Amino acid sequence: MAKIILKPSVGLDILLMNKKFLHQRKHRWFSPALLPLFAKMVLLYSSIVFCILLIVSIITITSVYYTMADSMKNDLYNSANSTTDYLNTHKKMDSSVFIRSNLRPSVTLQIYDGAGKLVIDNSPTHAVKKLSDRYIDDDIQNGTDSPLPTDIEGTGTSELSYYKKWSDNNDKTYYLRFSRIPDKENGFISLLSKQLVASILISLILTILSGMYLMKKSLAPLQEISKTIKGIEVNKLGSRISVSDKKNEIHDLAVTINQALDRIEYGYKQQQQFISDASHELRTPITVITGYVNLLDRWGKNDPEALQESITAIKSETEYMHQLIERLLFFDRSNSGTLKKHFMDINTSILLQELYNEISFIDTQHTIILKQNDSATIYAEPGSVKQMLRIFIDNALKYTPMGGTIYLSCEKREHKICYKIADTGIGIPTNEQKLVFERFYRVESSRSKETGGSGLGLSIAKYIAKGNNAELHLESEINKGTTMIAVFPIKESS
Ligand code: ADP
Repeated sequence: MAKIILKPSVGLDILLMNKKFLHQRKHRWFSPALLPLFAKMVLLYSSIVFCILLIVSIITITSVYYTMADSMKNDLYNSANSTTDYLNTHKKMDSSVFIRSNLRPSVTLQIYDGAGKLVIDNSPTHAVKKLSDRYIDDDIQNGTDSPLPTDIEGTGTSELSYYKKWSDNNDKTYYLRFSRIPDKENGFISLLSKQLVASILISLILTILSGMYLMKKSLAPLQEISKTIKGIEVNKLGSRISVSDKKNEIHDLAVTINQALDRIEYGYKQQQQFISDASHELRTPITVITGYVNLLDRWGKNDPEALQESITAIKSETEYMHQLIERLLFFDRSNSGTLKKHFMDINTSILLQELYNEISFIDTQHTIILKQNDSATIYAEPGSVKQMLRIFIDNALKYTPMGGTIYLSCEKREHKICYKIADTGIGIPTNEQKLVFERFYRVESSRSKETGGSGLGLSIAKYIAKGNNAELHLESEINKGTTMIAVFPIKESS
C-alpha cells in the first residue's frame, strides 16, 4: 500500500494554507461587505424597522407599568385617607370600616391590635392575608426606633402595602394595613408584552418579505444595466441599455450611461477613421517612392534623366510625408490643456510682421502685401498662433496661382483683434466651406494632389483657435479668392 510521507515543510505549508482558508471562510461568513447589495439593503431596512418597533414597545410597556403603579399607589393612599377619616368620625373600630366608600376596589384592609394580632380582615381568603406583619411587630417591640414605613412598601409587580396607626377614644392602638396585589395589572402587562413581541415578529417578517420584493423590483434595472455593460466590447460598442418610461434615478443613470456610450462610440469611430485616413495618406507617397525605387533599380542607374526625375519625386514625397507625420503628431502631442500652460502676452503687430518677413523671403511667385498691422495685446500661446497663421498663409500660397496677391492684415476692433489672410486664388465652393475644417477633407482631391495637401491644415487651425479662445471665419468666392479670419479677444490692460 502506498504510503504518503509528508515532509515537515510540506506539513507546515498545508497547515498555513488551511489556516488561510479558514480565515478566508471566516471572513466570508462574517463580513457583511461580501453580501449582495440586495441582501444588505433588506438587512438594513429590517434592522431599522426592528429597532423602531423594539423601542416603541419598550416605551409602551414602561409607561403602562408606571401609570399602573401610580394608580395602585393612589388607590392605597386614598383608601387609607378615607378609612382614617371615617374612623376619626366614627370613633370606634368595627367591621363597618370596610364600607365601599372607604376602600378602593382590590384594596384589602387588615387591622391588627396593639399586640400585633390580626383582629379584622376584609378578605380572609385573599392571598395578602397575613396573620402577623414584620413592620407592625417591629413597631410594637422597638417603638420609635423602627417606626412604621411612611410610604408604600413593595414594587409595581409584587404586593404593595401601606400602614397607618390609629387609636380610639380609650387609647387602644390599632394598626391598619392596606394592601394590594397587582394581579390584574401584571396579567395585563404580560399579555401586552406577548402581544407586542408577536406584533414585532409579524412586522419583521412582513418587513423582510416586502423589503425583498421592493428591493428585487427596484434593483432589477441595475442588473439589466450591469448585463448590458458586461456585453460591451471594443468591437461591439453599439449596445445600449433599454430605458424605461418611468422617470427616476435609475432612468437617469441609464440615460447618462447611454450618453457616455454614445460619446465613447463616436470617439472610437473618429479614431478608427483617423487611423484609416492617416494610413491611406501615407500609403500614396510610399507607393510613389516604391515605384521610383523600382524604376531606378531596373533602368535608372545609368539613365541620368530617370535618375534626376526619381530623386526629385522621392524628395518631394518624403517632404510631404515629413509634413504629414508632423501634422499627425500634432494631434497626438497637444491638447488645450498643454496649450494653456504656455499662454503669455503677445503683441499682435510684431507677430504678423515676423510672418510677413518670413514669407516675403521664401515666396517670390506671389505679391505679398502687409495691408494693415494694428498693435494690441492678446493672451495666447505664441507658437500655436504662429502655426495657425502659417497654415492660412501656406494655403493662400498653395491655392493662388503664380502672380496672385496675398494680403496680410491685423485689424483692431472694439475689444477684438482680427488677423486676416486674404488671397486672390481659386476659392472654395460655398457648400464645402464648413467641411474644409474636418480632418483630411480636401475640396477636390485632384486639385489638392498638385499642391500636395493632406487635408489636415485647417483642422489643426480650428483646434489651435479653440485652444487659444479665438474664433475662425472663412469668406470665399470661386475664382476670386479666400479670406481666413481669426478673431482674438484683446487683453484689457489692468
Ligand atoms: P490641405 O493640406 O489639403 O491644404 P487644409 O486642411 O489646409 O488641407 O485645407 C483643406 C482644403 O481646403 C484644401 O484641400 C483646399 O481644397 C481648401 N482650401 C484651404 N485653403 C484654401 C484657400 N486659401 N483657397 C482655396 N482653397 C483652400
